[in-house]
Amino acid sequence: MIPKVSDIHTHNPQATDGVINLEQGAEPQRDDALYSVGWHPWWGPCTDWNWVETCAADPRVVLIGECGIDRSRGGDVEAQIELTRRHALLAQRVGKPLILHVVGAWGEILGLRKQLKPSVPWIIHGFRGKPELVRQLLDAGFHISLGPKSPPALAGLIPPERLLRETD
Ligand SMILES: [Zn+2]
Repeated sequence: MIPKVSDIHTHNPQATDGVINLEQGAEPQRDDALYSVGWHPWWGPCTDWNWVETCAADPRVVLIGECGIDRSRGGDVEAQIELTRRHALLAQRVGKPLILHVVGAWGEILGLRKQLKPSVPWIIHGFRGKPELVRQLLDAGFHISLGPKSPPALAGLIPPERLLRETD
């Protein structure tokens, strides 16, 4: 269900062997590429859910997100939780994994997962937290993607089947 690519999250539209995150309002362009679609928390309240839904139905779109909760620059946290829930339900409905941006909101994302009990994978992208948090996230069922800014030692704590790599 998680695509077998070397780069699970990139913003480079020319990328090969990666999942390209669509910028706001953009549509999948290439037939030889894979994409993800979601309303980024930095974009504020979602003003075009229709765009997310439409792209989510495209077979080239293989992940829902990035979406999530960012306590430092995402605005009202409750609203972010609700928007993340909306993405999670969409991911469930279309049967595609969710890719998450989470900053300073671990209790919230753990709570949401516990509540929704998703059957599609939930991937934390660009993880930069502490080893204790890795344990907690793995126990809760998350996949973890490490990027250029992630502490390299974390890789040793994550079983290969739950570990992903990205260039962001
Ligand atoms: Zn990103």
